[in-house]
Amino acid sequence: MPTGDGLLARVHPPLGILTLDQARAVAEGARRFGNGHLDLTARANLQIRGVTEATRAPLAAWLAAQGLGDVRADGGPQRLTLTSPLAGHDPDETVDVPTLAAAIETAGLAIPGLPAKTLVVVEGRPGRAVPEADLSVVAEGPGRVAIAVAHGETPRTLLTCAEDAAPGHVAALLGVFARTGRRRMRDLSDGEMAALTGALCSGRPAPSAGSAKARGGFAPGREPARPAGARDLRSVAIDAPFGRCTADALERVAARATAIGADEIRLSATRGFVLLVPATASDAAAAATAALAAEFIVVPDDPRRAIAACTGAPGCASGSTPTLADAARLAAAFGPLAASGRAAHVSGCAKGCARPGPADLTLVGRDGLYGVLVGGAPGDEPAMDLPIEAVLERLGRAEIDGLSAAFAPEITPSACGRTRRPA
Ligand code: SF4
Repeated sequence: MPTGDGLLARVHPPLGILTLDQARAVAEGARRFGNGHLDLTARANLQIRGVTEATRAPLAAWLAAQGLGDVRADGGPQRLTLTSPLAGHDPDETVDVPTLAAAIETAGLAIPGLPAKTLVVVEGRPGRAVPEADLSVVAEGPGRVAIAVAHGETPRTLLTCAEDAAPGHVAALLGVFARTGRRRMRDLSDGEMAALTGALCSGRPAPSAGSAKARGGFAPGREPARPAGARDLRSVAIDAPFGRCTADALERVAARATAIGADEIRLSATRGFVLLVPATASDAAAAATAALAAEFIVVPDDPRRAIAACTGAPGCASGSTPTLADAARLAAAFGPLAASGRAAHVSGCAKGCARPGPADLTLVGRDGLYGVLVGGAPGDEPAMDLPIEAVLERLGRAEIDGLSAAFAPEITPSACGRTRRPA
């Protein structure tokens, strides 16, 4: 798709996992056919930036040769599922997530008309469904899952079943969904939702995705047969600040992975990478983390984790403000609020690519200034427009006065800011 810095090519690593050779190839492809910059997406995919009309076909061929080409040509989702980066190695998983996700991917490929953004989250730990997913397949206990559909604020559980029956049920639901012509399941009308549940109540057996035994999975009621040594692994988790990194940085991650004995790089929905290494390599893993700290987020309380930011200017033609640089400045002042669970969003324009919904503090680029919204979304009308310096100045008062008071329009804006409308 076109962006301010050229075409953007999305790469969908199968099940969110790159071999080290694939990671190096993506880095090389980003340098040769793009501008050397990468995005890490919230769906654990990668985007190569700065592709041109002349380089798009060679890049596609390059990626396909690495096993990273598109898997369907009908406009449907290139990758349907989202799983934990620890999938298959998490001691708390009670179902075989990689096998289940792979079976759902296979089932999805056979469904024509599936919208490109359809998302099925597969969660191996017993827990809750994910509101952002069209369907959630969540472990309920050993060998059993619950399937829930997006529905308003709270997903609606449709059924529980044995894990090896889940791909068939998911396929039936996706088939009905595709025929509605809707883009997301959360948009289904009551009648369409009834048709969806009817697909499960029709009495017809759900299409089989293969027996658990044939797929190397495990039968309901048994403890999962995790890979040998699964409990003896240590994970190295690093996130890319604001979801951006360079091809060179990805290559350095691959080099560190090799050095510490990791054989793959897993992508995470936190816009980062996870390396799994033997627990015996604990010291080497710590050293690798330290070595990557200059380019990546390596600690859980880094305030950049609380801030979403899009490409903005100059990378995106729709942006008038340098969102990534300004988000970094904002992070330094946002630490106390981040520590109390607040979130911010620096958006280059009202489209809100990085976070379409509301945040505690949303800044929207407008003619070189930022429209400020406390608790609003990028598409809302801001109360005032301020330069980033004035935003930072007011943010300094927020810890004491609160965000709403600090950004109240009746406060006299600094000389270069302008108030759009009174409180
Ligand atoms: S929100 Fe606007 S400026 Fe930011 S990436 Fe999307 S279109 Fe570009």
